[in-house]
Amino acid sequence: MIDLKRNSKKEPVKATGVRSRETSSYTPNQRTDFKISRGRFSNFLTCQRCFYLDRVKGLDAPGTPGWTLNETTDLLLKKEFDHCREQQIPHRLFAANGLSHVVPFDHQEMDRWRDSLHHGLMLRHKNTSIILTGGVDDIWQDTITKKLIVVDYKSQAKNGRLDKQDYLDDPYHDGYKIQMDFYAYLLSGMGFDVHPTSYFLVCNAKRDDDGFHKRMNFDEYLVPYNWNSDWIESKIDEMVALMNQHQIPEPNECCKNCAYSEQYAKAIHQDEIKQGQSLQGTLF
Ligand code: SF4
Repeated sequence: MIDLKRNSKKEPVKATGVRSRETSSYTPNQRTDFKISRGRFSNFLTCQRCFYLDRVKGLDAPGTPGWTLNETTDLLLKKEFDHCREQQIPHRLFAANGLSHVVPFDHQEMDRWRDSLHHGLMLRHKNTSIILTGGVDDIWQDTITKKLIVVDYKSQAKNGRLDKQDYLDDPYHDGYKIQMDFYAYLLSGMGFDVHPTSYFLVCNAKRDDDGFHKRMNFDEYLVPYNWNSDWIESKIDEMVALMNQHQIPEPNECCKNCAYSEQYAKAIHQDEIKQGQSLQGTLF
């Protein structure tokens, strides 16, 4: 997609391709604390090269527009759950899902834990300078065992009813499960007793309604997911080792962005190519 750089007045300005704040990049073997968010960790899992170019070399990748409709469902759900949190009562969805003994967790840090931009759940990785962060959507509590339940809100618009197992098995939702594993890992590392089952609260917009009529209707589903964080620590070790090296890692061959960039560069350099120079594999 085309992403124009704009200043604070929303005026287009020249894009440089690098971030201007030096502190937003990590220097190999840096001693001062450096935050890595859940989203950046997911980037590392998807493509080590893009992660390295972003976090260590300071490249400013094109962004995507905000998902304002999805954010609105999150915002409205937050209001509902905060009401139940204040009253320490189960949410209207809980009884129907066998969770009458669950309430939204009441903790003074909750707003900070949900603030993915400035705070989130936080955990130092071993004795490194890396602080792992993750802005969780919500945390509930089992009032019997006192264990905490990690929750993620998801909005989508698909035809028909949602099958919970299909939802979890969908390869496009692998990232959701990684997200949940990561939050549970952080919360456990922060010293909390975390329930083995987390929940996706999925809001599915009904596409088969007869019209818009100034409102969109949703079905709601609680999809239980038994998180697993066994794999995370070794991957974070790998990520930190990568950040401390000076060599740029290999790209992900399945990435359409890199393939596009390579074809773009070839189109721009077509004169040299016509003269017999081979550029294949030399551009990136
Ligand atoms: S393959 Fe290239 S564009 Fe794609 S994520 Fe990796 S470095 Fe970025």
